[in-house]
Amino acid sequence: MTSSLSLGRYAGIKVQIHWTFWFLILFIVILVYSQEGTFSDVIWSTGFILALFVCVVLHEFGHALTARSYGIGTRSITLLPIGGVASLKEVPEDPRAEFMVAIAGPAVNVVIAIILYIFVPVETFLEKDPETLQEELTGITANNFMFYLFAANVALVLFNMLPAFPLDGGRVLRALLSVRMGRVRATQAAAALGKFLALTFFLIGIFYNLILALIAVFIYFGAESENVMVMQLNLLKGYIVRDAMITRFTVIRPDQTLNDVIDNILMGTDRNFVVADEYGARGILLMEDLTEAIQTKGRHAPVSHVMDTNFKTLNPFDPLTNAYRELRSGSKNFFPVLEGNKLVGVIDIDNINEFLRFRASLDY
Ligand SMILES: [Zn+2]
Repeated sequence: MTSSLSLGRYAGIKVQIHWTFWFLILFIVILVYSQEGTFSDVIWSTGFILALFVCVVLHEFGHALTARSYGIGTRSITLLPIGGVASLKEVPEDPRAEFMVAIAGPAVNVVIAIILYIFVPVETFLEKDPETLQEELTGITANNFMFYLFAANVALVLFNMLPAFPLDGGRVLRALLSVRMGRVRATQAAAALGKFLALTFFLIGIFYNLILALIAVFIYFGAESENVMVMQLNLLKGYIVRDAMITRFTVIRPDQTLNDVIDNILMGTDRNFVVADEYGARGILLMEDLTEAIQTKGRHAPVSHVMDTNFKTLNPFDPLTNAYRELRSGSKNFFPVLEGNKLVGVIDIDNINEFLRFRASLDY
């Protein structure tokens, strides 16, 4: 399922619009009409949202291009109704790099705001008495469009620089704390503050602004999941794939049938399989894909017809932290482990979770 509309690649980075973004446009259209707006009001308001999101994309490019200067690539920049997301391939671990990458996004909006300030008569708006100003700012029109865009960029800077991890300001805070207390404790502290602020935003949001409440939910769970990830990566540090991989596993031959795979699942505890012949690993077959394969091809189809041949492998001497990142980031969470051409093990996320459970309990 393709859930995003691609807008092409810029500086080698894919820019896309998530399908939920269109709900924001729909919401704006309904809002304007419900306040007895005209068709031209709708055009100005949606035009404003689009212009604002161009600024958001530029903000994300600020993060992405700075990350690139530290050797970190970006998978894509995605527009959501609540803002933009630059999916960096990894989070910079060096505090200086994290600081620079985090601050680069809001810095872009500062530059945009300064440029707009030069061309927009901001003072003439602000010098008006409150009543006239309120009148002139009801609804977006040709007269106040640029002023609104200026104000929105200022708001973007202020909001993103709040120390609510994982917002940009929260990342800046973590980078600064990391220098003194190390990355794990810095993340714990930043995430605790992030979650506290998220709860505050949520309470304010449900009364005054539902989008703020929605953003608060993302901040809360974002803070939680990144905190867990940093703690887990810390526990895995110093270990290699061989320390955690499964070495007793069932190998399926390409000419065996799907029925044989079902028998194997029922008889043992394996859920996902490496398909291999005498020349080595040929593919993988995951239990989650098996039902669909049986429905389309029948239970007597050979495994070679349905196996996934586009699979990643790991080396037993790879750091376990790399395996963890790969298993969490990709859609497939099962990898054969090859030493040269020889299949020596398999690893999946459950495996790593077991390893983590014992590591965590042994630390106490
Ligand atoms: Zn940002």
